Formats: sequence, structure tokens, C-alpha cells
Amino acid sequence: MSTFADTSVATHATYEPVIGLEVHVQLLTATKIFCSCSTRFGAPPNTNVCPVCLGMPGALPVLNRKAVEFATLAAMALNCRINETSIFARKNYFYPDLPKGYQISQYDKPLAEHGSIEVHASDGKRKIGITRVHLEEDAGKSLHEGFPDASEKTAIDLNRTGVPLIEIVSEPDITTPDEAYEYLTRLKEIILYTRVSDCNMEEGSLRCDANVSVRPRGQRELGTKTEIKNVNSFRFIREALIYEISRQVEVVESGGKITQETRLYNSHEGKTYSMRSKEQAHDYRYFPEPDLLPLLVDEKWQAEITKTLPELPEALRARLVKEYGITEYDAQVLTVSKSLADQFESAAKAAKNPKRVANLVQGELMGRLKTKGLEIEQSPISMKGVATSADLVESGAISGKMLKDLYDLCFERNKDFPEIYDEEGRPQQSSDTTALEKIIDEIVAANPKQLEQYRAGKKTMIGFFVGQVMKASKGQANPPLVNELLTKKLD
Ligand code: ADP
Ligand code: MG
Ligand code: ZN
Repeated sequence: MSTFADTSVATHATYEPVIGLEVHVQLLTATKIFCSCSTRFGAPPNTNVCPVCLGMPGALPVLNRKAVEFATLAAMALNCRINETSIFARKNYFYPDLPKGYQISQYDKPLAEHGSIEVHASDGKRKIGITRVHLEEDAGKSLHEGFPDASEKTAIDLNRTGVPLIEIVSEPDITTPDEAYEYLTRLKEIILYTRVSDCNMEEGSLRCDANVSVRPRGQRELGTKTEIKNVNSFRFIREALIYEISRQVEVVESGGKITQETRLYNSHEGKTYSMRSKEQAHDYRYFPEPDLLPLLVDEKWQAEITKTLPELPEALRARLVKEYGITEYDAQVLTVSKSLADQFESAAKAAKNPKRVANLVQGELMGRLKTKGLEIEQSPISMKGVATSADLVESGAISGKMLKDLYDLCFERNKDFPEIYDEEGRPQQSSDTTALEKIIDEIVAANPKQLEQYRAGKKTMIGFFVGQVMKASKGQANPPLVNELLTKKLD
């Protein structure tokens, strides 16, 4: 059995992986897609149910308008073309958590198609195609846990039955596990910005199935794929893909054939296992849902939804770089959430010099966070605190050195800047000329050699004296003033 490292090298040399992802995202509507039951997570089992979502005979579905709007908004954010007419279809299969015996989904006429997501690949930016975005209802949940003997009993919770989902299907455009990870990160970010889902993977609000095949480099025809189901983190999806690619390469290298099948990932072992083969695959016998009309999202409605489209992360980052002169990297960090980006922008706007806020985030905040192993959202210094400190430096009230010390205290005591500034008695950098002149006299007297060099024409020696004076004043002196007084004295 070879390790990941050497097989992945071999993979890259002769075989090309091809990956396509199917992502399910739960929409944040208050009620279910075809009934008025609550979608609240964590309610006692089987309390958010009614004849419609339980699939009682004769109960009729009524489409949730908000679910359509959220799905359309997400599809727009993913650069899809919205189909004015889409069709709900019955996907028939038997499973204990599916009381109706079919799931209402969309099949050959989905809500939206032809989208894309931009990802940062090793060779620059690349577009990953999105085949389709469609609306469907979720199934219930089988609970195998919490029983004395988990192998004996299974319980069903139907609270989730009928919760609205969108399924986002990618083209087989992804070529590495890293790229899959990046695609998922960007996808989640975009969905979060639209606020149509909380994308909480622990609660199952975002679920991903990964399809993967390998082919000899240069071959156009796709290889036989396997599908890895229900992996519950992006990191595990990446790991599962790495394993599965090397497994497939080994099979093909040793003259074998890949069987089309569904596999499960065991994250403890870092391996995938066969769950069911193509022969056992469901034949869903899709047909149009007779209880629902075709879904019509006409131009007028689309225009209304377009108006609610927020600025998306990629565009926001480009604008922050341009407007505030921050680096691409910092723009990435500052846009990890919409709320952080908003905080940064309002702080930068409120400050006397927005650029200084950006510089402080970049120059003073990031490094301290990194040292402490904190995410920016856990920063003791808020964006507002950064803005306050920026204004104090801007007005000359505190020096850069003082700011550094105050920031250190913020991190030591885990308090925001204004609080620390007050605690420290609102220190001011010294602009007291007489006191400074005294220090300068002492420093100059104590360093005759440097003074000689300066007077001999080595003007850069001024830096040495400024440094000494700053040190002697414990960083409290106002540097421009020190410079001015020193120049006078030395000349
Ligand atoms: P299925 O009918 O088995 O569900 P689809 O054609 O609907 O297959 O594709 C499902 C997902 O699998 C899509 O994301 C698609 O890009 C991806 N996919 C399809 N064929 C391959 C392949 N040969 N290798 C890797 N991914 C593939
Ligand atoms: Mg499919
Ligand atoms: Zn219901």
C-alpha cells in the first residue's frame, strides 16, 4: 500500500483527476417548502410536521414563495441563467426517512443553469462551471445513535422532511482536491453573502457529494467516476478525494477497471469504502409532479430579486484593494465574513484617514492575531477600536510607538482599544519642548563621536539621535517635534 504523497506524485505525472461536486444547501426560510411547518433546527423529534410533509394521502403541496426567491438569488449570485419556467418532478425511491415514497425535486427543467464560480488556482484565476441549480425538499433523518444498542434500533425524525434545499451541481471542471476545497470555500462564501443559508455543516445545512474519476493526461474522454457521499467537512472532502484518486490510479495502473459506484469516506482511516454499485443504483422514475404547476419566475420577479443581490465577495475584495490600498491577502482576511467587511468599511469611513485604518489592520493587527493564533473575528481590538487609535495617531496625540504598546496591552488584557486607552489614563505623546530640549542636550553630550560625524556631513546620523531621544522619552516624544528640535540643535 503506497502512501498519499508518492501516489499523488504519480497521479500528477500520468493521470489527470476529474472532479464534479454536488452541493446541497438548506435555505433559511422560516417554513418548509410545501407546507407551513417550521424549519427550526433542534426542535423535539417529529414536532414540526403536518399531513403535507408527512405525505398523507390527499394532502397537497403549496410552494413557498420565499424559497423560490432565495433559490433564485443564490443562482444569480452563482452567475446562473434563470429559467423563466422550471418544473417540479417526483424522484421516486423507498427509504424510511421519506414517508411519501418520493422526493419533490427538479429534473430536466431546473430553476437555473450555466453558472460559474471563480477559484484561485495555482496558475491564476479559473472559472468552474455550474451545470445547474435546482430546488427540492429535504428528506427526514434516521437516528442510529442514543440507543443502548445502536445496531438494534433506528428512529426517524421527520422535522427535516420538506425543508427547502437547493442543489448546486458543478461541471466536471475541477482537477485537484485543493481546487475542490477552494471551490467549496468560494461557494459557501457566496451563499453566506446572499444570506439565503447559514451553510452550517454540523447542522447539515450544507452537504456535499464528490464525484471523481481519473484519465490519462491528454485523453478527452472522461473515466468512470465514483461518487463519495456525505462527507461532513471541506477538509475531509479534500482528504477523501486524495485517497480516492490514488486508489483509482492504482486500480487502473494494475490493469483493473473502475466500477461506477457510491463510496463512503471513513475519516478515521482516511479511506473510502464501496457502499453500492451501479447495479444497485436507484432508478428514480422521475416524472413531473402532478400536484404543482410549473414554476414561473418571470422577468419582473427576476428584476425584483436582482435588486436584493448584495455586493459579492470577489467584487468587494477588488473594491477594498482599490479604495483602501490594502493587499489582496488582507482583503481576503477582511472579507471572511460580510459582517467583518462591513465593520472594516464603516470604521475606515468614520476615521479621519481611512488608509491609516487599513495600514493598522495590516501592520499592527494581523501580526498580533497570528502570533496569538486568533481569527480576526476573535480580535480583542474591534475595527472601531482600530479607527479610534488611527485618529489618535493622525492628530499627533499618540506616537506610533505608543500605539504599539497600547495594542500589546489590548492583547494582554483582552480588551478593546478605547478601554485600554482609558485604563492607561489617556496618554499623550510629549510635546513639551523644554523637557525634550533637556533630553536632547543630554543625548548630544553623551555621543560626541556621532555628533562629529554628523557635523562632518553625515546627515543620516540624525536618525541615530532621533532614536536615542525617543528611547529616552520612552516613546512618548512626538517624532516630528524631536526631529525639528534636533536639527536646530545639531546645526
Ligand atoms: P449522475 O447521473 O451519476 O448523478 P451527473 O451527470 O448528474 O451524474 O453528474 C453528477 C456530478 O458528477 C456532476 O457534478 C458532474 O460534473 C460530475 N461528473 C460527471 N461525470 C464525471 C466523471 N466522469 N468524472 C468526474 N465527475 C463527473
Ligand atoms: Mg446527478
Ligand atoms: Zn408540514
